[in-house]
Amino acid sequence: MMQNPVLICDFDGTVTENDNIIAIMKKFAPPEWVLLKDGVLSQGISIKEGVGRMFSLLPSSQKEEITQFILQDAKIREGFADFVTYTKEAGIPLYIVSGGMDFFVKPILNGLVPDDHIYCNEADFSNSHIHISWPHTCDGQCTNECGCCKPSIVRRVAPEQDIIVVGDSVTDLEAAKLADLVIARDLLLEKSEVLGLNYKPFQTFYDVIEHVKEVVK
Ligand code: MG
Ligand code: ZN
Repeated sequence: MMQNPVLICDFDGTVTENDNIIAIMKKFAPPEWVLLKDGVLSQGISIKEGVGRMFSLLPSSQKEEITQFILQDAKIREGFADFVTYTKEAGIPLYIVSGGMDFFVKPILNGLVPDDHIYCNEADFSNSHIHISWPHTCDGQCTNECGCCKPSIVRRVAPEQDIIVVGDSVTDLEAAKLADLVIARDLLLEKSEVLGLNYKPFQTFYDVIEHVKEVVK
């Protein structure tokens, strides 16, 4: 049983049903974005390079259009609000750790998760094309060029605690390797199996609540 659990939860494809970066690129980017995405998913190029170059394909003049589109398009996964309530009642700190961008992550989580429990990247629209700044880059122990470095954040916010990582993709893998329990779907589920991590599958946040209850009772 965990004495001192902390929840580290991904955003894109986890809190939301789909990946918002992919949705934005599909709608607004020229075809070059596909190669960059494939490079990131196959771990051929770093997340930081791939995602940074994808956003640099988009003109800053489309800020309003992109923001409106993604706030309408994003769907929060079933059970998330109840999951947030559960973590408060159970006294388990919940951090959203996201490779997504502030202009959609924070508005979508507004009223659910306070800003000081959200770690994400920042999009700068002040030049001709979108520039991503990376406020949470890798610490000295990570050489993956993560962009938003999930393992570095885990080390900082939960150095001694029992770590539960909730996620869906390769971008959660380095944090998952540090976790005592991984609650996973999609690609992260496959990778957790291959790496022999302690993992449970989920579809909705009601599944996540059940898996957490099993280890913190
Ligand atoms: Mg994700
Ligand atoms: Zn890193």
